[in-house]
Amino acid sequence: MSILVYIEHAEGKVKKTSLEAVSFANALAAQTGEGEVVAVALGTVDQAELASVGKAGAAKVLHGADARLDAGVIQAHASAVAQAFQKVGAKTLVLAKSSLGDAVAARLAIKLQAGLVSNVVELPNTSGGYTVKRSIYTGKAFAETAVTTENKILAIKKNAIDLRTDGADASVENFDVQLSDADFAGKITATERATGEILLPEADIVVSGGRGMKGPENWGMIEDLAKVLGAATGCSKPVSDIGWRPHHEHVGQTGVKVAPSLYVAVGISGAIQHLAGVNSSKCIVVINKDPEAPFFKAADYGIVGDAFEVVPKLTEALKAE
Ligand code: FAD
Repeated sequence: MSILVYIEHAEGKVKKTSLEAVSFANALAAQTGEGEVVAVALGTVDQAELASVGKAGAAKVLHGADARLDAGVIQAHASAVAQAFQKVGAKTLVLAKSSLGDAVAARLAIKLQAGLVSNVVELPNTSGGYTVKRSIYTGKAFAETAVTTENKILAIKKNAIDLRTDGADASVENFDVQLSDADFAGKITATERATGEILLPEADIVVSGGRGMKGPENWGMIEDLAKVLGAATGCSKPVSDIGWRPHHEHVGQTGVKVAPSLYVAVGISGAIQHLAGVNSSKCIVVINKDPEAPFFKAADYGIVGDAFEVVPKLTEALKAE
């Protein structure tokens, strides 16, 4: 028996959230005695990159290298993962909570007749049952969910699990996925790459600007700070509504939900709808000239000051490090 982990990758790299899912599965296997952790990766990705998944605790990676899987067609991925699940005799599938993960997990819950819990934040309590703690209401509360099915799917919340990095390289095995035309009934006909060097939903550090930045001509300051920190750039909703920044940078309840290690908010008031998208961040730094700005209540560090003075000084100080 094994625990299966569905791995996502982008631009040749396995996503950190998937490595967190592997780390979770590794600890779960030690707890429940479900054997080794096997990962399944689909589409074109380098073998050495896949072997490195072992560092997070996978013994083996099944690689379904069929190039038709590159497009991320959800039905095809769900079908391939179901085949991997049967192949390794798993009862538990672990994956990262993400747009693709959610879509694949929902289909797999039907295919595998599995109980699905999303936004899992810690290992299940398996003493006398199987109860899983998950984050709800955009991180404001937790719920305990009892899973009673034999097959289980756990989608792990980003940044909730410590990443394991001390394992040995995994063996990579070719996985011959059987796919039919029906698996490709839904087609992705065009994709557009988001601008910016680092993609916002994946970023470990995010620098966001709000209406306090006064206009798009001042965004160089945000970009300079982001560059020196190796961060993605984000913004508040009104900023993208006015057209100062593209919509895919809009962070919050109605935009991208981020969970970086560090979130720097510049000239953003901290309305509840914005906080809903950032409150899973590990550390929040707020720069605002109004000491009463609500964002300071959610901040780990706050700088009361004019962004036009503080941000360039901060960038210069970081450059000098
Ligand atoms: P403002 O509220 O105008 O705040 C600007 C801040 O900049 C102020 O705190 C001010 O003190 C500060 N400031 C001004 N000048 C400077 C300076 N020189 N230096 C430093 N600080 C300065 N908003 C989101 O962001 N994301 C969402 O997903 C979202 N979803 C919404 C959904 C609904 C249904 C609704 C009703 C609203 C939603 N909003 C969302 C909007 C939200 O309520 C706020 O209006 C918005 O977040 C405010 O954006 P802001 O902080 O950039 O602007």
